[in-house]
Amino acid sequence: VEQKAELLCQLYGYKRIDTPLFEEAELFARSVGEETEVVQKQMYTFEDRGGAQMTLRPEGTAPVCRAYVEHGMHTLPQPVKLYYIAPIFRYERPQAGRYREHRQFGFEAIGESDPLLDVEVITMAWQFCEMLGIQGLSLKLNSIGCRRCRPAYVEALKGYYSRYTDAICPNCKTRLVRNPLRLLDCKEPPCRNIAESAPKSVDYLCEECRAHFGHLKSYLDLMELSFELDYHLVRGLDYYTRTVFEIQTREEGAQNALGGGGRYDYLVEELGGNPTPAVGFAAGLERIISCVRRQDIPVPPPSEPKVYIAYLGERAKREATELVTSLRKAGIPTIQAVGDRSLKAQMRQANSLGTTYGVIIGEKEVEGGTVMLRDMSRGEQREIALAELVSLLRKKEENCGKEGGIVI
Ligand SMILES: [Zn+2]
Ligand SMILES: [Zn+2]
Repeated sequence: VEQKAELLCQLYGYKRIDTPLFEEAELFARSVGEETEVVQKQMYTFEDRGGAQMTLRPEGTAPVCRAYVEHGMHTLPQPVKLYYIAPIFRYERPQAGRYREHRQFGFEAIGESDPLLDVEVITMAWQFCEMLGIQGLSLKLNSIGCRRCRPAYVEALKGYYSRYTDAICPNCKTRLVRNPLRLLDCKEPPCRNIAESAPKSVDYLCEECRAHFGHLKSYLDLMELSFELDYHLVRGLDYYTRTVFEIQTREEGAQNALGGGGRYDYLVEELGGNPTPAVGFAAGLERIISCVRRQDIPVPPPSEPKVYIAYLGERAKREATELVTSLRKAGIPTIQAVGDRSLKAQMRQANSLGTTYGVIIGEKEVEGGTVMLRDMSRGEQREIALAELVSLLRKKEENCGKEGGIVI
């Protein structure tokens, strides 16, 4: 999955960034939002020896924006396109594909407000799921407005929900006061029913936000990427503005979110930078992997070592040691036997490691300047000159993947 992620980022021109595992707690309170569940309930925060409050990274976007500001990335050509594959820590109830320490793949495009960039990020997220062979994908889309138009929407939402204070769940009673947007994605059945008729953010968008959303949808049409408007999609973090989206997969009647993202046009500014619009996406790798497993998607086997070097006797051992160095320098994955075991035991190990070739060196071979080269799957072997071995194996390494050609 990580290899596909890296390939994807190469295709789209995103460069890797590795931010520290922990940051000042303040960074997440300011960006993710004091009233969010992440900050209220899910962060691993501790005091370091200097008395500073530090937090294990609970999400990837705020640290990337912190780095953008701190390292003056506004002087680079915009948008700056970055990706990360990093551990994330959240104190949540562990469940299938969801761990308190998990890994996220995310990418961010910082420094441009063009809705075409939203489309690039959405397309990229979609292509990532497609590259992995995941079936039943759907794209959910919403716009939650900007700081100009959102307050009126939040007021309308509060007004609507204040009529149902007796019917909503206890968590939603708190949300109504502290984080009203999250009322919309509560999973409790009574709250879901109430959310059905709640005011929609798209009906409250200012002219700029409406135009942005309109262009976004028309570019998606142009790309023939079909989407469903989901008026309850708000995402859990406060920094989102305008576009929010999620990629889901439908399996056995249930929708599973694979990842999501959106625009966060004020985040860089809130962290001390210039006003800098931006958009990004993130997905939990364990969730993706459990989806790949549920859908029985064939995964290529991890690459096996190609060559196993066996030896008999001290002189042969010394020669084997030199040989293994030359093979590895030539880029041929090689394992060397250690521990002076019998030849039979060494060959057994070569087999169980799945190596393609065995190279056997004994007293006779040392004397003659040769080695025995063994095709492990066929069990055939022949003597070849030691001096030829590296170039011969390199040729076979280059031909591997092509059918045939490997005859001993
Ligand atoms: Zn707006
Ligand atoms: Zn609720």
